[in-house]
Amino acid sequence: MADSKPSIIRVAVPSPLRRTFDYLIPENLLATPPQRGCRVAVPFGKREVVGLVIECPDSTDFAVEKLKPISAVIDQQPLLPESLFKLFIWAANYYQHPIGDALFSTLPVLLRSGSELPEIQIANWRATTLGKGLGPDSLKRSPRQKVLMDELLQQPLISEEQLLETHSRAALKQLREKDLIELVLQKPQPVALDNLLREQPLQLHQSQQKAMDAIEIHGFKSWLLDGVTGSGKTEIYLQSIEKVLRYGRQTLVLIPEISLTPQTEKRFRDRFNVPLVTLHSGLTDKARLEAWARAKSGDAQIILGTRSAIFTPLKDPGLIILDEEHDQSYKQQEGFRYSARDLAVIRAKQENIPIILGSATPSLESLNNCDKQRYQHLVLDTRAGNASPPSWNIVDLKTETLECGIASSTLAAIRAAISQKQQVLVFLNRRGFAPTLLCHQCGWVAECRSCDARLTVHRGRGRLICHHCNYQQRTVHQCPSCQSRELIAAGEGTERSEAWLQDCFPETPVLRVDRDSTRNKGAMQKVFDTANSGEPCILVGTQMLAKGHHFANITLVVVLDADSGLFSADFRSHERMGQLLVQVAGRSGRGSTAGKVILQTHQPEHPLLQLLISQGYSQYAKLLLDQRQLTQLPPFNQMAIIRAESNNPNQAEMFLRAARGLAEAIAPPSPKLGYIGPLPALMEKRAGRFRFLLQLSGQRRGDLQQLLSTLCPQLERLPEARKVRWSIDVDPQEL
Ligand code: ADP
Ligand code: ZN
Ligand code: ZN
Repeated sequence: MADSKPSIIRVAVPSPLRRTFDYLIPENLLATPPQRGCRVAVPFGKREVVGLVIECPDSTDFAVEKLKPISAVIDQQPLLPESLFKLFIWAANYYQHPIGDALFSTLPVLLRSGSELPEIQIANWRATTLGKGLGPDSLKRSPRQKVLMDELLQQPLISEEQLLETHSRAALKQLREKDLIELVLQKPQPVALDNLLREQPLQLHQSQQKAMDAIEIHGFKSWLLDGVTGSGKTEIYLQSIEKVLRYGRQTLVLIPEISLTPQTEKRFRDRFNVPLVTLHSGLTDKARLEAWARAKSGDAQIILGTRSAIFTPLKDPGLIILDEEHDQSYKQQEGFRYSARDLAVIRAKQENIPIILGSATPSLESLNNCDKQRYQHLVLDTRAGNASPPSWNIVDLKTETLECGIASSTLAAIRAAISQKQQVLVFLNRRGFAPTLLCHQCGWVAECRSCDARLTVHRGRGRLICHHCNYQQRTVHQCPSCQSRELIAAGEGTERSEAWLQDCFPETPVLRVDRDSTRNKGAMQKVFDTANSGEPCILVGTQMLAKGHHFANITLVVVLDADSGLFSADFRSHERMGQLLVQVAGRSGRGSTAGKVILQTHQPEHPLLQLLISQGYSQYAKLLLDQRQLTQLPPFNQMAIIRAESNNPNQAEMFLRAARGLAEAIAPPSPKLGYIGPLPALMEKRAGRFRFLLQLSGQRRGDLQQLLSTLCPQLERLPEARKVRWSIDVDPQEL
């Protein structure tokens, strides 16, 4: 139907179905149909939903007379720039995810429900006439208000954002109530080029300078900034951003976590005078929309965000930086299972801009991309300033007496550091008090009813908790099996280590950092304040403590259990163990005093541990890469996993068996394309559901992609699919 051309409109709606929906454009809109990327309201089943226009196709596969018209056009201008739209399409295809869900699950909530883009206005404060006439002796009794007032008297106008960095909101409110200051809303003004910096850049050290000289900021290129912990990667980021700002473009900076590392945000704010917005899960819906809108309008020149910020619209992108590129948090593990790291490279390519991926422990994928010359490898092998690399010490647990998981020689080292007024970090990747509750008489163990897992003892809360499904119960004091009262909390978690260390060092602050302790707002701030005060203290925590912190006075890092990553069925476990150990160790000796790392292990001779500490991460990674090549595992082949889970123990497996049958009919097993499974997941039963997986691997990405694209619609139609929950994970990070 040639004449139907302009009247059909294809729309993505938030739906788990892997398809788009066709509608009609009503007569009155035919002259100016909404463009791609605009939101429209459409009837969907019995509801009306917000959808995004994909295109106005020439024809439809459906009977035109059955199509319904769209109800309304929400945006006159596309909400998403064309280049970002392309990224979504690419990602939906690559990760085999419904485009509607990909688009809508990443949009700010308020836009999903049809809110308008807010007009961007910057809040500024200035002194009123009354305020300007204030005598020098006034506000004497409110010193905080006085400092704020003095600052406002010296400048015609100061932005609220800037004021709140050093003053409280309460002080602003009080001065306003006294009519001494007033709010002025303004459209954002571009910052003058000679006023970009708030502080001078550092003088780069030699290897920093070499890296900086290499980085080109025009055109697409991927750089892997492989710099040991404390080598000053952030300074390279900052100076690269400065160059980009000087020709008026925006930088998108991705980091794994914002609330855990407020120092990072501060370093960017301290350096530049330009509008900076943050995007992360802790924002209110309104704040998130505002930050998103400021990035889109180009007002925000630096956008600092976590994983999903990769989907932020940018008016004039100039550079993408992705810090701690090895971090697992860049991969979304549910729903739309994308890798923000990989998408960042695709986005940089599509926008024709450079990307810098930084890490002290780069992923094997990125190192391989350097070998293949897809990325340019930049190495910073020395620490900045006076800091030297920490020294490693192995404590053989087989020959030591242990108390609460701590060897006596380790305890002596902690005591020595504290007595020299230094700080200590104790790392244990297990939260709670003890991982097992055990009956001394009959051997009964407290287990989760819904998972193949034990319950963890949380003593402070008096509860037994499953860390996999969050099942909780009050702790028991009597064995349900033999009624004995001799129950033993066996093994160590951070809560127990904290309690014991506090007993050993009653005069020293011992602070715990894990998901339980940081649930209270302000808990993390207390840790930062104590650590930054430089006073002796002991931080005990999980991998939350390994993430990018810079505490200058930590000189000793203790790893209580270095063995946990040595034996696991996941082929990435050695890579992760190396990264974690090096990152934790990297918190030591960042100031002028040399740092030390103690690794407690039952496997002191383990060749991998030995290699890691004697040769360092890069040699370690080389060996792992060689092993991956020999065994044909990623990055030397491409992998996808189809997962299924069901309440009934057989259904998930049956679905996957059918899936394998379909897949083999499309592409029979060959040296190029292989299948493993269905296999039970590493934890077969979790939250009451039985979990299985089917692994697909291909020598070439294209073959695997083609198979998945054909397979997916067939899986949706399988009768077995109705009885299970299933998903596809392309480039899985976990088995
Ligand atoms: P990384 O991110 O590589 O672990 P950071 O960027 O946190 O390292 O830098 C570690 C410390 O070294 C910071 O306190 C930083 O201010 C300092 N630093 C970085 N570069 C220099 C330099 N060129 N001269 C002096 N100090 C530097
Ligand atoms: Zn018992
Ligand atoms: Zn459980």
